Formats: sequence, C-alpha cells, structure tokens
Amino acid sequence: MIGNSSFKVGIYIRLSRDDGNLESDSIISQRSLLRRYVKENNYNIAEEYVDDGFTGTNFERPSFKRMIKDIESGKVNMIITKDMSRLGRDYIGTGELIEKYFPNNNIRYIAINDGIDTFIDNTNNDIAPFKAIMNDMYAKDISKKIKTSLHSRMKDGLYVSGRCPFGYMKDPNNKNHLVINIEQASVVRLIFDLALKGNTYHYIAGELTKRKIRTPSSYYNYVWNKNCLSQEQGVWVDTTIKAILTNQIYVGDTVQSKTRKINYKLKKTVKNDPNNYIVVKDTHEAIIDREIFNYVQGLLSKNIKRPEKKKFYLLDGLLYCGNCKHRITIRYQKKTRRSYTICNYYRTYSKYHVCTTHTNNYEVLEKVILNNIKDICERYLDKSKIKESINNIEFVDNTLKIKKQIENLKITNNKLTESLDKTYMDKLKGIIDTEQYIRVSENIKKEIDNNKINIENLKNKEKSANKFTNKNVKKYINEFLSLDNPTRELIINLVEKIYIYQDKQIDIIFTFKNTT
Ligand SMILES: [Zn+2]
Repeated sequence: MIGNSSFKVGIYIRLSRDDGNLESDSIISQRSLLRRYVKENNYNIAEEYVDDGFTGTNFERPSFKRMIKDIESGKVNMIITKDMSRLGRDYIGTGELIEKYFPNNNIRYIAINDGIDTFIDNTNNDIAPFKAIMNDMYAKDISKKIKTSLHSRMKDGLYVSGRCPFGYMKDPNNKNHLVINIEQASVVRLIFDLALKGNTYHYIAGELTKRKIRTPSSYYNYVWNKNCLSQEQGVWVDTTIKAILTNQIYVGDTVQSKTRKINYKLKKTVKNDPNNYIVVKDTHEAIIDREIFNYVQGLLSKNIKRPEKKKFYLLDGLLYCGNCKHRITIRYQKKTRRSYTICNYYRTYSKYHVCTTHTNNYEVLEKVILNNIKDICERYLDKSKIKESINNIEFVDNTLKIKKQIENLKITNNKLTESLDKTYMDKLKGIIDTEQYIRVSENIKKEIDNNKINIENLKNKEKSANKFTNKNVKKYINEFLSLDNPTRELIINLVEKIYIYQDKQIDIIFTFKNTT
C-alpha cells in the first residue's frame, strides 16, 4: 500500500464555450477546488494542466496531450479533475481512458464531484453510461423478452439504441435520455442551413468534407491510442446527409423501430414500414425548429430525384406535365446545342401514347417563367400594397394542416358538449343517479378542457408557422426582384411546382398564395 504522499498528482483543468458561463466551471474555481482537495488529502501536485477554450468532445487539446506524455514518462501517476466531463465529454473516448488507459498505465484517477476514485472499489466507479454505449443492446441479448421490453420503453420515449444519434449524447444522469452534444449539434444546424438554401445532398456532403468537418462515423470509430484521437475527419457521403436531414430526432421526437431484425443469427435488418415507427414527441431538446424541419422536407422532395447532371438548369425538378402530372425533364441535344423539355411519362411509355411530347426550348421557357414570377412578385411588393399583401401571404403546407386539426378538435368538443347535455337529461329522467352523473360529467368536462388546451397550442403553432414563412417569403421576393439572375435557392423557396401544358400554357404554383 502506498501512502498518499507518494502520489505524483497531475491536476487537469478544462474550460470551453460548451460549458456555458457557470462560475463553478471557471479556471480559477476549478483550480482552487483541486488544490484544496490535494492539500486536504496530503497529495503532492507534480504538474498542472490547463486547457482553456477547448471542447471536451475530442482530445485534440495541447495540455491534455502533454499530460499523456507525462503519464508515459512517469512524471505523474495520479490525475484529478473536478468532474468527469472536464476530462472529456465524449463517452466512448473518456470511457476508454478511465477503463483501459489509466489502469494499464497504473494511473489513479479521481473525479471529485462524481465520487470516482479508480483505486477504491465503490459503486460510483461502475461507470454504467460508458458501458451502455459500448455494448450493442440488440446484439447482446436476443431473447424475445428483451425485445418486448425494449419496445415498451420505446413507447415511453426512452432512448434505447446502442449508439447516440449524431448531435446528441446520453444524459450522464440518465442513460435513456438524450442531451445535446454542442459541437455535433452545430454541424447538424449547418447541414439544415445548407439544405434551406436548396442544396442537394451531394453538394452538402462535398461542402462538409471540404470544410474538414468530422463525420459521424469518425466520431464513433476512432480508437483510443497513444496519439490520442484519429486524425481522420472522414469523407461525408450523400446518404449520411440524407439520414440527418430526414431524422425527426432533431426536432425533439424519439423515433424508433426504423429497422427490425428478420433473423438474429443473420444480423440482417429490414426497414420497417413508416407506419410502424414508434414516435414519441418532445422527449428531448430539439436541435432544429419543427417548422424549419418540415420546410426542409418539402425542399428535399424537389431535389431528391435529381441525378447529378453535367448541365445545370435553374428550374430542374420543378417542372411537371400539366396534362399527365408526371415530371418534365430537361434534355440536352448535342446536334442543336439546345436543351429541350419532355414529359417523362411520354418519354418512358411513348409507344402507348399515354401523353404528348411537351417539347419546349428550355432557354425560352425559363425566360418566360422567370418573367412571369417577377410579375407576380412585383404585384406583391407594389409599394402601396406592400403591407397588406405580405399579410395576405399564407403558407400552404403548414397552416392548412393545423387549421384542419383545430377544426376537428372543435367538432369533437361540440359532440362532447352534446353528450354532456344528454347525461344531464339522463340524470333528470332518473336513468343514472347523481354519483354516476358526477363521475361521467367530470370525465367529459376534463376531455373538453384538454381539447381546448390543444386548440390553443395549435393556434400558437399556426401563428409561429406564419411568422416563419411570411418573414422569409418577403425576404426571398425582395432578393428575387433585385437580381438579374436568381439563384436556385431563391427559386425553390418561392416556387412549389410549375405545370407545363401541351398548348404551352404555364401554371406556376407558389409556395405562398394570395388570398385576395
Ligand atoms: Zn405528360
């Protein structure tokens, strides 16, 4: 047994913007806590390591690296931090450190506020959250019983998958709850911002790789070693971007059971029908605003079926056949060096005469359509009517659905009120006694009140949906009018669909509509 004085203590202090403005996390207060602790326990400080302004989600920190060097040269044999999160906020890396690296190097580690001391056998050292993440719950136990219990936990909105979705981490106090991983969440927001501008998955992936942003898999796959984290930030692929942009987890909902195993021995999974997804709303903090998320889903459907083409067409993906309602594609003709539109349905099934060509010179068509859009936008922004017209702009997608929900709740409440009256009549007629009447009527009243609360919530939601879109529409219209060559971002934010008819008539469906 070695006495306390034989420990060569390294105190490690870390502060980053992620940690908010907690006074107790400041460098000074961490230092004074650690020094007091060392003094009270008769240890000796051999070295002090301070990383000021470095995130805990990776180990690329100068003083941390110096500490690892000192551990390996034997300069220190004990590390003390205020709490575990000072060492690192990444569960896998920090877990590896505490469970493998420190023991292998005979380092004693103490996290004062977490009550962890790796040289004392106590329950606090059982760092369950780390283990939970490293073990794949599904792979470990294949019994039906476990599966059933997982399902019931999903229905409660508890997070049960082995791996955290990118942007989140497990709550240190509750491994079934997700909390935001600040560094990763900022990447998620960036991806949604880029999508809001109308960029494709492919473009966004390229942009992130170019900016040297670490991919989700590089976070999960790195191996703790002497060189700290892997230097590879990875290459972003389209499917990762798609998975993030379509994941409802980012609005705060828990969505599980996306896949199910057909055979546990084969480890093969198939995709579940979206109707069988288990969705529990608002189980954790949102990274992306719900309205923005829904809006982006709309934008994505315009981009989704666009294979990478050599030539860029401003209106690509927005053109539809007015007669058969299928997509209209744009093809470049080498011979004439011009681009033409063609109804996709006609092109694919031309021998069945299902539709007609819908051939137009694309350049001419684009000019006509842009002038048309400009006209309509100018009308909106007619100086004298500017305020009025903006107020009349209404977003088709969001508000209609909410209005319908409100309408349905109102109908339900009318019916409930009717049955309340009927119950009262039953009591007067002596069909039910007073006690029964009170019980039944109380229940109905409770339901009515609940619906009223829901109606209020929906009304607020409707208002905020309008606020979001109106503000943007105005901005987009102004930008559109000020540019000679509008960008695709502007177009797809203003235009929902463009129908082209065989007789050259054009219908432009805007993302907003004029109710006057
Ligand atoms: Zn057609």
